[in-house]
Amino acid sequence: MRLKLYNTLTRKKETFKPIQKGKVGIYTCGPTVYWYQHIGNLRGYFFSDILKRVLKLEGYKVTHVINVTDVGHLTSDADEGEDKMEKAAKKEGKSANEISNFYLNVLKDDFKKMNIEMPDYWPKATEHIKEQIELIKKLEKKGYIYKTSDGIYFDTSKFKSYGKLANINISGLKAGKRIAVGEKKNKTDFALWKLSSSSEGQRQQEWESPWGVGFPGWHIECSAMSMKYLGEHFDIHAGGQEHIQIHHTNEIAQSEAATGKPFVNYWLHGGWLTHCGEKISKSKGGLYTLSELDKQGYSPMDLRYFFLSAHYRKPLDFSLENLDFAKTSLKRLKDMISRLKEAGSRTPTGPSNKNVELAFGEFRSFINDDLNTSRALSYLWEILRDDRLNNSEKYELAEKFDKVLGLELDKEKKVRIPADVRKLAEIREKAREEKEWEDADQLRRDIENLGFIVEDSEDGFVLKEK
Ligand SMILES: [Zn+2]
Repeated sequence: MRLKLYNTLTRKKETFKPIQKGKVGIYTCGPTVYWYQHIGNLRGYFFSDILKRVLKLEGYKVTHVINVTDVGHLTSDADEGEDKMEKAAKKEGKSANEISNFYLNVLKDDFKKMNIEMPDYWPKATEHIKEQIELIKKLEKKGYIYKTSDGIYFDTSKFKSYGKLANINISGLKAGKRIAVGEKKNKTDFALWKLSSSSEGQRQQEWESPWGVGFPGWHIECSAMSMKYLGEHFDIHAGGQEHIQIHHTNEIAQSEAATGKPFVNYWLHGGWLTHCGEKISKSKGGLYTLSELDKQGYSPMDLRYFFLSAHYRKPLDFSLENLDFAKTSLKRLKDMISRLKEAGSRTPTGPSNKNVELAFGEFRSFINDDLNTSRALSYLWEILRDDRLNNSEKYELAEKFDKVLGLELDKEKKVRIPADVRKLAEIREKAREEKEWEDADQLRRDIENLGFIVEDSEDGFVLKEK
């Protein structure tokens, strides 16, 4: 079946054709690991996850890369301001490496909780300094760079198709607050390498380079690392739509200038998560982390269901009320599936069931239409209410759809064991080993009073809800 994807580069839905038969390389712009990722960021990774699942469903072998920005992302897009990592390290009194590992691990945990598949590679910018310097050297050899007092810049006037992704009218750009020219030759020029400056104080992260001690600019890492893992010309680059104008525009310029080849065939951009119609932010509200939502009684899967309900390119308005609706729907859906499972076990479907085949084809046509998850999700509800299908057909279809939706519809509700209950069970296990039976019995009663049952098995204890 044909997969159609909306390509920002051509502003059209196009039929996807891989560079190499049966294989797809995807690069997703990843986190700057100086703080927790909020649900707006998570929507972006969720979108890459759906893309990947659909490609796999269609039989492609996918290689997925998400970069980890642990240096060089400044507080302003205009190559000014403090390095976010250095700032966080200073504030928390830790090393930049400790900070990045900590927040990356939190994100990996969020992925697991939301059933977002891990990428094949999580390359860190600080571990690819050599590749970034090599790329800048290539650009230097071809005459694309120049030096200012604070760094090495890319001369965008030398790259003829600069701005093609965003349709930027270069001559119409006015220098303003966001576009400081300073020593830059053109308003759109950007830093490839920033020199450490004595006025900033001692940096934790800096490296020798042919142009002086410093650190890479933010954009160059994505070109260097994507090309390292996926080749100089690869299939799909994904990211948030806020990156079209500067970050992705600059990635294209420096990559194509260096290699003389097209960089990426399909540029896919996810829409914003909004709150009261505006992009979620500290000032506008709606800025939650997964664990903050958890404290309010919403599971990561409730959020996944909520994300599925909208097309990835459209803005999605977040509020706890909207999330409530998703939570209720998901619960109803899971209850229906478990009832179907019970009822359907007596009437197995044959290996080539026409009804199942037809309905699954319908589902694929929705999901292959630029990843239309909201249509696919409503189709699942239609199937479940369709009297022409029997229970086992419905169950089989729900299971098949879930390979893309990723809602773990048939998974038993995982019981969450509080840490204090687990601790008591561990102490009880010790007491049993030491044959302190009275203590062990008392601890079992204490655990029961907290609402849990402890069972003993050959490989230790099992805790269950009472
Ligand atoms: Zn990037």
